[in-house]
Amino acid sequence: MIHLPIKDRDLPPARLSVPGALRQICRAIEALDGEVYNASYYPHNEVVGLLRAYSIHKVELEPGDRPKCNYCESQIEHAVTLQVEHYRPKAKVEAGENDHIELPGYYWLGLEWTNLLLACPKCNGKDAKGSKFPIRGNRAPAHSPVEQHNNNNVLVRVNCYADVGPLQQEQAILLNPEIDHPELYLTFDLLGNIEGFGNDADRGEISKDTYRLNRDELVVCRQKVWNDLKNEINLCIAGHRMLELNEQALRYCFRNIANKLLIRKLPTEEYTLWGRFINDNLADFLQEIDNFYADIFREVYNGLLVVNP
Ligand SMILES: [Zn+2]
Repeated sequence: MIHLPIKDRDLPPARLSVPGALRQICRAIEALDGEVYNASYYPHNEVVGLLRAYSIHKVELEPGDRPKCNYCESQIEHAVTLQVEHYRPKAKVEAGENDHIELPGYYWLGLEWTNLLLACPKCNGKDAKGSKFPIRGNRAPAHSPVEQHNNNNVLVRVNCYADVGPLQQEQAILLNPEIDHPELYLTFDLLGNIEGFGNDADRGEISKDTYRLNRDELVVCRQKVWNDLKNEINLCIAGHRMLELNEQALRYCFRNIANKLLIRKLPTEEYTLWGRFINDNLADFLQEIDNFYADIFREVYNGLLVVNP
C-alpha cells in the first residue's frame, strides 16, 4: 500500500451527483440501509476508470498501464476484477472489538467520492476487509449529504468527506491510502512479510490483518521481486568468475539490474511499498551476495542514485 495523492475530493465524477444518484442516497437515508445503491452508480465506468488511473498515480490510463489494488498493490491481469470498495462499509459494520453487535453501515456514504477506493477481491472479500471497520472512540453519527433547496435535492458533501469534519473525529483504524501515508505505519522483514511500524504501529498491524496483506500468495510474489533481481546478480557473478565477463561488462550488467531495482520504487509498479523497502535497505539484502561483488553492485547502484535520486 502506498499513498495515493491524486483524487480531488471536491471534483467527484458527475455520475455520483446525477438526480438518480441523489434519489438513491435519500432512499438509503430514509431506510437506514446501504443495500439500496444499485450497480449503475459507483461501479460505473466513469468512476472505476478514474480510480484505476489514480491507483498508479495517473489521471488517465495509457495503453499498457496496469492498475492495481489500493491495498495489496497486486496488478491483476484482468483489471476488471478490481472492485470499487467502500472504505467505510455502506451496508453494515461487522461486530468487532469496539462494537459487540453488528451495526448498520455508513448508508449515507454509498456514493461519497472520498469513501470509494479500488480493491481486489482478495483484500475486499468477506474473510478479509469485508464489512469490517474498527475505530477508536465513538462511531460518527449520520450526516445527511442531501438537503432540500427550493424543493430540489442538493448534495452537500462537506459533511461526508473521509478526511475532514465529523468522520475524521471517529479515528478510523484501517489505513486509507488516500489519507494516510502507509510507510509511516507499515514495514517489512527481509522475507516480504508486512508488519506494523512507527508510533502507531497498531494501525499498521490491524490493517495488515484486516486486508490480509501477508496472505501466502502475496508474500511469495513479494519474495519473487527480490529473488529475480538476486538471481540476475548471481548470473553476472558466475559469468565474471568464469571469465566470460570482464569487470567492465560486469559493471554494465549490474547497472541494468540496479536500474530495474530503482524502477520498483515507482507507483506504476506492482508492490511499490516493498520495492521501496528493498531500495532503502539494500545493504541488508546484499548480505546474501558475495562481499566482493556486493561492494561493486552497491557502487554501481549509488552511481545511478547520483544521476537519478
Ligand atoms: Zn488487494
